[in-house]
Amino acid sequence: MDRGGSVRNRPEWRTNRIGRECAPAGPDDESTTTNELLQRHLPKSGVVKGFNNVYSEHLLALTRPSGAADPTIRTERHSGRSAAIRGPRPPGTYSKIISRFHRQPPQEISEMINKYAGRCGTCGAQVEAGVGQAVNVDGRWNSYHHACVPIRVAPPVGRHAGWHDLPVVGFDLEGTLPEPTETRIISAALVHSDGTTQEWLTDPGVSIPADATARHGITDEMVRSGGQPAREALADLGTAVAKLIADGIPLVAFCAPYDVTALHTELARHGLPAIDWDRAVIIDPSVLHKEVEPRWYGSKQLGDLCRYYEVTLETAHEAASDARAAADLARSIAARHGRIARMRPDLLHQAQIGWYAEQSRDLQSYFDRQGRDETVSTQWPLETKPRD
Ligand SMILES: [Zn+2]
Repeated sequence: MDRGGSVRNRPEWRTNRIGRECAPAGPDDESTTTNELLQRHLPKSGVVKGFNNVYSEHLLALTRPSGAADPTIRTERHSGRSAAIRGPRPPGTYSKIISRFHRQPPQEISEMINKYAGRCGTCGAQVEAGVGQAVNVDGRWNSYHHACVPIRVAPPVGRHAGWHDLPVVGFDLEGTLPEPTETRIISAALVHSDGTTQEWLTDPGVSIPADATARHGITDEMVRSGGQPAREALADLGTAVAKLIADGIPLVAFCAPYDVTALHTELARHGLPAIDWDRAVIIDPSVLHKEVEPRWYGSKQLGDLCRYYEVTLETAHEAASDARAAADLARSIAARHGRIARMRPDLLHQAQIGWYAEQSRDLQSYFDRQGRDETVSTQWPLETKPRD
C-alpha cells in the first residue's frame, strides 16, 4: 500500500513528555537530525548529510585517513527514504539549504552548526562561525566544513559466535497514541528468522488520531474494512507471543517498553490472558546501541541506527518492516560487539534492565539540567508504574 512521502519520525511521536523514543542520554536528546530538519523546512530538498560525527574507535575503522570525509558519498532523500549515493554533490546545494536554516533557526541543531570559528578538524583550514558543523569526537568539539565532516562508521563485523546465529523473532506494533498504557493497537507483526511473518491489522474500535495516521499510514477506513476486531486479533497475538516466550525464543523489539507495555495493557483491557513477561527474553537494539555507543551524539531512531549498522529498513513505521529491521539490527550489533553476542540471551535480558535504568537516569538528569518537566521511566521492558 502506498504510504505516501510524508516525513514521519519517532522523536516527534515518541519523545513527547516521556522520552518515549527511548532517546538517549546525552546533551542533544530530542535533537533533530539534519535530514529531518531539511525535510521539515524544505520538504523538496534533495541533498542532505546523514552522518554528523565519528569517534576514535571508528576513525580507526575508516578506509581513509582519520577524519577525512569521503567526498564521493552523499545521502539523498526521496519520498522520505534515504540512500547513500556515490557521486559529487550538486554545487552549492547544501550551503543554500543551511542558509535557509539560519532564517528560522531551530534550537535542536545547535550542536550541528558551529557557533564559533575554528580550524577544520579534517583539512585544517579556517571554518567561519555558523557556516560549518560542530562535531563531537570523543568528547571534544571540533569544527568542520560541511564537506569535511567525518562519516560515522560502525565497528566491523567480527567472526565470533553468539546468539545472533540463533533464531530470534522481531516484534513491533503500531498504535493510536504515543503513551503505551493508553494506546490501542492497530497493527502488529512477528517476523521469524526464517522470514515467516505474522501480521495483524486490528480495528481498535476508536478513531485513529491524524498524527498517528500520518506516522504509520493506517486510516480508520483501512481498519474498518480490513482489520480484525481488536479482541480477536489481540487474543491471537497474545497467544503467539506467549508461545514464543514459552519456547525460550528471544523477542527483539526496538524501544521494547512501548511494544511490551502496550500489548500487556491491551490484553488486560480486553480481559485476555496475561503474558508472563518475567519469563520472556527480550532484546532491545535501542538499549544495546546506547550500551555499546555511550558517546553517541544525535538521533538514534530506528532509521538512523539501521543506516549506521547497515540494516535495510523497508518502510519505516510499518510493523513488519520495523520488526524485521529490529531483529536485523540486534544481530548486526551483536555481530560487531563480541561481548554482547557472547552473553546468554536470558542474562542479556537481565543486563538490559540495568542498562536501561542507567540510560534513563542519565536522560532524566539531562532533562532536569534543562529545567524540563519530564519524567523518564526507568522500567524495562514492562512499564507498570505511571510516570507522573
Ligand atoms: Zn575542511
